[in-house]
Amino acid sequence: MEYNQVTPEVVAALQQIVGEKYVWTERDKRIPYGQDEGTGQPCLPDVVVLPATTEELAAVVRLANDVVIPLIPRGTGTGLEGGAVADSRGGIMVSTERMDRILEINEDAMYMTVEAGVITAVIQEEARKRGLLYAGDPCSGDCCCIGGNGATNAGGNRAVKYGTTRDQIYAIEVVTPTGKIAHLGKRLHKMTAGYPLEKIVIGSEGTLGIITKLTLRLVPLPPCTANLLAVFPAPAKALSLVTALPKAGITPTCLEFMDYDVIAVVQDWLKEKQPCPEGGAYMIIQLDGKNEDTLDEDCVTADELCRSLGAVEVFMADADKVWKARKAFTEASAAECPVAAMEDFVVPPDKLEDLLQSLKAIGAQTGVVFRGVSHAGDGNIHLDVLRRGFADEADEKAKITAFEDQACAAVYEMGGAISGEHGIGQSRKALFAKYTDPVALELMKALKKAWDPKCILNPGKLF
Ligand SMILES: Cc1cc2nc3c(=O)[nH]c(=O)nc-3n(C[C@H](O)[C@H](O)[C@H](O)COP(=O)(O)OP(=O)(O)OC[C@H]3O[C@@H](n4cnc5c(N)ncnc54)[C@H](O)[C@@H]3O)c2cc1C
Repeated sequence: MEYNQVTPEVVAALQQIVGEKYVWTERDKRIPYGQDEGTGQPCLPDVVVLPATTEELAAVVRLANDVVIPLIPRGTGTGLEGGAVADSRGGIMVSTERMDRILEINEDAMYMTVEAGVITAVIQEEARKRGLLYAGDPCSGDCCCIGGNGATNAGGNRAVKYGTTRDQIYAIEVVTPTGKIAHLGKRLHKMTAGYPLEKIVIGSEGTLGIITKLTLRLVPLPPCTANLLAVFPAPAKALSLVTALPKAGITPTCLEFMDYDVIAVVQDWLKEKQPCPEGGAYMIIQLDGKNEDTLDEDCVTADELCRSLGAVEVFMADADKVWKARKAFTEASAAECPVAAMEDFVVPPDKLEDLLQSLKAIGAQTGVVFRGVSHAGDGNIHLDVLRRGFADEADEKAKITAFEDQACAAVYEMGGAISGEHGIGQSRKALFAKYTDPVALELMKALKKAWDPKCILNPGKLF
């Protein structure tokens, strides 16, 4: 597809739509929009536009579609795969940051309608104040926004019990790539009336539409919560809990795995002694209960189960302490060594142990060192590949490429996918093309073409 450049006439037309104050062409203002939180190369959009309403945003999209200029939707830019970053073709970046109003909270029917730019933690807090829970919980919740969560189908620690962002959304308002305003999904508990288009837009990384409003499902806030820290002598024993716990009738809210390599790095970073033997592993188990009695019962069952699987210790953990250790992973591994690449593999939970073994073998064979933590309950593992042991940049690139290719092959072979929650963006396109069912890929491309004939919406992402 041939695209046109952003001309002074286009800038003037954008100013007409959203007002001069909200169209930024100055380089210093565009720089923060030139990258996300991933390891990809920065690239500036030609102009950043900040609409305040769906109508303004739709007018911007119609303009971009008429003049055939790439349009890059952006939430708060915490993505990790370059999805909210322009590519070398530049274009118009549309930020939803001014669309940050909570429109309705209905405590009785338990839903909330918000604009796309509302920060996720604000939604969680507004629900909490009313005794309700918004269950979406990406670790970046303090700084990402709900539109970005919808576009990436963000997961997080609680996905094992409550599902990903897609499961928290009843309905969305979307601006299509040709600038129409569509209302997809309804606040219903069942519906068999055509294709569930909202479910396709959610997770489409800004390639099929720009989400402007979302109606979110809320649930009662669980009255009691407990955090157990089970210490195992070896990763395999810890990971056997992933299938054993649900089989024992317990659905944890969170089930997080850390192996000794990560625990040691976190220990150094936090300067707090961790109770893990060398070569061992942690499983953090968070349980919710309707009351103290049922919660105690579940804690006893989980404790006994962990010990029967070989746990050397099971602590009733201090929530702040144990989650501080888990959440310190990113900073701790970056402090240990600069991170060259991040991985986000997902396999059926019962295959997690096999995957971990394979990844270790592939790492050793390709000369790649990584640190990994896992949302174990949903089979999702995050790796930080360390910039260590490479002779030079070419060596680093070759080894990481070999590692990623073999790792993705192993993941695919196990019935998994190359991304559990971070998405494909720009960084994972080649691997996505290689390790996706070819017919599924063909259908996805056909869908994109039907929705966005001029391919103006987030081109160069996914495909
Ligand atoms: C420290 C850290 C922890 C993280 N933890 C998690 C985690 O636990 N789980 C998880 O899933 N992710 C996690 N992430 C990744 C990231 O925070 C999520 O992907 C988040 O959903 C992105 O939201 P955002 O508002 O920053 O979106 P952006 O980064 O701005 O955009 C992400 C993608 O969505 C598109 N997009 C943004 N807004 C819209 C919209 N309104 N309509 C259509 N498309 C849009 C963009 O074009 C881009 O493709 C983490 C990131 C960091 C840095």
